[in-house]
Amino acid sequence: MSRPAQATFDLAALRANYAHAKAVHGGRAAATLKANAYGHGAVQCARALAGVADAFAVAFAQEALELREAGIREQPILVLEGAFDIGDVELARQHGLWLVVHQEEQLRMLESLRGGTAVHAWLKIDTGMHRAGIAPDQTRPFWQRLADCEQVASTTLMTHLASADEPDNLATERQLAVFEAATHGLPGPRSVANSAGVLCWKGAHQDWARPGIMLYGADPRGTPSDVLQPVMQLTSEVFAERWIPAGEALGYGGSFVADRPTRVGLVAMGYADGYPRTAHTGTPVAVGGCASRIIGRVAMDMLTVDLTDLPEAGPGSQVELWGRQVSVNDVAAAAGTIAYELLCNVKRVGRVYW
Ligand SMILES: *Cc1c(COP(=O)(O)O)cnc(C)c1O
Repeated sequence: MSRPAQATFDLAALRANYAHAKAVHGGRAAATLKANAYGHGAVQCARALAGVADAFAVAFAQEALELREAGIREQPILVLEGAFDIGDVELARQHGLWLVVHQEEQLRMLESLRGGTAVHAWLKIDTGMHRAGIAPDQTRPFWQRLADCEQVASTTLMTHLASADEPDNLATERQLAVFEAATHGLPGPRSVANSAGVLCWKGAHQDWARPGIMLYGADPRGTPSDVLQPVMQLTSEVFAERWIPAGEALGYGGSFVADRPTRVGLVAMGYADGYPRTAHTGTPVAVGGCASRIIGRVAMDMLTVDLTDLPEAGPGSQVELWGRQVSVNDVAAAAGTIAYELLCNVKRVGRVYW
């Protein structure tokens, strides 16, 4: 028998989540496939969405090139970090990529172009996140310089929200107001909403949405969703079991000490597979369809679960680390991180698509 650690991907769920994002937001939506589609396989996800997505979005040009080389040719691909060098601009011209422009250097690259195919630019305005983006009062001069570029075909105005996953956080209202003021009267399409903007902020609904995490079935607020469907199911099996007496410690560091005779199941899944080492005792897991918990430390190749109250479970029982029974958001909360990080870290396991 081969090692049972496996990630299973439900591409119909991906399509349903995309349709939901579009229905909530209105307008068009660029499906965000950066970081190998948050660990789900960018090429497979792009193929699954090829008939429905208006565009795709990735972080940098090389990620877009991988999609093009895999035969994803119909949709424009937005490059969210824009060009790192003039080579990226040439890739964009060859392969129909849309380039974010968030700083002067990137604008100068576009101004230096002579002849050839024109590119579509997305001008990114820093409305309060203070990471990438031009200052709001630079919007008009930048917009004008893009309009004057012989090799720029169109300019979309965009910004990115820092705290949209907190529905009561007024910082988002301020960002929306700054965006409105900075872009007032300028022609062209606009784009504000990431997943949290789609789900929580009507004022962020513009011409284009850029949903990411919600496509994979996780609500960016970390709360359960009755609409979004998990795309990835991370599973393995119990491959051994043992009893430890009360008072005995389990695993590295002896961090778990049994307070009663405890039946321990060994599961073929560890931090080398992307399961977080910081998931402490109590992190939810499902064994044979029943709720249980991680006990002791997660090791590189295996972890241990509590089978004491699950007499039916034992070697061969299926274990869901996350998926439809165990929410990846709940595992992330227990591990002190977010679903995004868990999903894009999955590696070494078998991968099955349906
Ligand atoms: C990653 C990213 C998104 C998608 O964000 P989610 O929170 O996953 O929906 C949208 N816009 C930009 C600029 C991004 O970097």
